[in-house]
Amino acid sequence: MAGALTLVGLTACSGDDSSADDDADDNDSSGDRDTPTPSNGEPVVDADVPDEALIFGWISEVFDQGIRRPGYPADEWTETYTEDLFREFGLEDVRLEPVNCLKWEPGDVTLEVVGAGETRQLDAFPVPYSTPVDGLEVEIAKFDENAPDATRGKAALTDVAFIGIPADLMVGSGTLPEDRSRRAYDPDGTLVGHTHLTPSQTGMVLEPTAEHGAAAFIGSLKDHPGDPYTFYAPYDAHQVPIPAVFVRGSDGDWIHEQLAAGPVTIKLSVAGEQSEIVTNNVIGELPGADDDIVIVGSHHDGPWASAVEDGSGIAMVLAQAKYWAARPQEERPHRMIFVLQAAHMAGWVGQKAFVAEHADELERTVLQVHLEHAGKDVVEENGELVDTGLPVPRWFFTSRNPELEESVYTALEAEDLKRTIILSPDAIGGRPPTDGVAFYDAGVPIMNFLGAPWYLFHEADTLDKVDKENLVGITRTVIRIIGDTAGTSAADMRAGTVAVDPKNPEHGPPATPPPGDGGVYEPVES
Ligand SMILES: [Zn+2]
Repeated sequence: MAGALTLVGLTACSGDDSSADDDADDNDSSGDRDTPTPSNGEPVVDADVPDEALIFGWISEVFDQGIRRPGYPADEWTETYTEDLFREFGLEDVRLEPVNCLKWEPGDVTLEVVGAGETRQLDAFPVPYSTPVDGLEVEIAKFDENAPDATRGKAALTDVAFIGIPADLMVGSGTLPEDRSRRAYDPDGTLVGHTHLTPSQTGMVLEPTAEHGAAAFIGSLKDHPGDPYTFYAPYDAHQVPIPAVFVRGSDGDWIHEQLAAGPVTIKLSVAGEQSEIVTNNVIGELPGADDDIVIVGSHHDGPWASAVEDGSGIAMVLAQAKYWAARPQEERPHRMIFVLQAAHMAGWVGQKAFVAEHADELERTVLQVHLEHAGKDVVEENGELVDTGLPVPRWFFTSRNPELEESVYTALEAEDLKRTIILSPDAIGGRPPTDGVAFYDAGVPIMNFLGAPWYLFHEADTLDKVDKENLVGITRTVIRIIGDTAGTSAADMRAGTVAVDPKNPEHGPPATPPPGDGGVYEPVES
């Protein structure tokens, strides 16, 4: 996910008058589609669908390698591992395509806080791409957005809180058809009345402190479950112009108490290293019934060992690759390109590299499917993390093609993939905040699956968070959606898509950072 959400000024949503008619046309014409029928006459061939143990096993193996940031040994290992699996499945033209990126590695941090009557050494973690400093001694003050200059020359203490949204909010966000009865598949009613805790984002609280001349940023991870001090955001690979660290929410509360009693100073040393590296997009292909293309992707790096972000995405792509490789060429609706993109956590430049270097293929792409974050809805109760038994609400960002939307809903229903919302691509900030947004920007029809649990950027993203029970269901749902593109050309799909105006004021709430505002794509010189 390219960034979590600032959910302010939620918009009412406009109906799209034309789409009701389109829907009707669709239903009439759907019987004309030239769908190759698999040999068993069903849309999914059960025997070729990888089972839960296999899919979860891929996640476990990747997770066990450790922190998977771009350029880390675990991420390089994952490139080779997935490249080998693509070959083993029988994909063609399996290759690594190099991507330039800016690697960042945190170094040692010491933070001493001298309060009214007490001095403490606090655990702290550097904000990615922040400025190193050695022994900065400075007064600390609470950052006040109504008086932002009050922390000029001081360390600005800010709470980095979570944002809870109504779990069904996105059903009505963005440009939508008039009939919204098939926008959410939630037969158990677990969306209405529930709060969805979305990943916290630091950019929106960090940037104003630096803009107003703060000497340092101290981000208190207020109310983050488990009271951690480690957190990996923002990850747009933009230089943070001041020293910046995160501390535990409980320690942040203690600093607030000290400030109430009198002046407080800090002594801060923070190290971090940046380097330009080459990482790789991992790609494999399969020929299909025609030469139009379906692209299936995710990203192979992550902020930590990150089982859900995006160990789960890697495994969901592997599951599609294995399934479709096992089916005969004539049953694959189109040529298929599988891509595990690099450097999502370094300004999401892997997707930018792919889009820049495959412009001719994008023209012929019927659908770009991106798969990210199959996670459980886990909450904190009495200081413990508790599994609610539910998946985090699933968001399927889907281009506004009524036939495609209907295909997605039908697949969700057929596989009983509950707690799922079909989102307009502009439901959040005008563009999907996914690792596939560069395809959307390039005009490619999309179906991007994204879960957005609060723990995406935390070390707490461990194997127990994976929505294991639904890995097969998600895989089957995606198989159906891809299979259903048979007989639809890239030109057909575009022609049937209702344009979403990026400047439409009826867009959903903004995302921070804007999903496209990441690192700069620079071609690798050969
Ligand atoms: Zn992801």
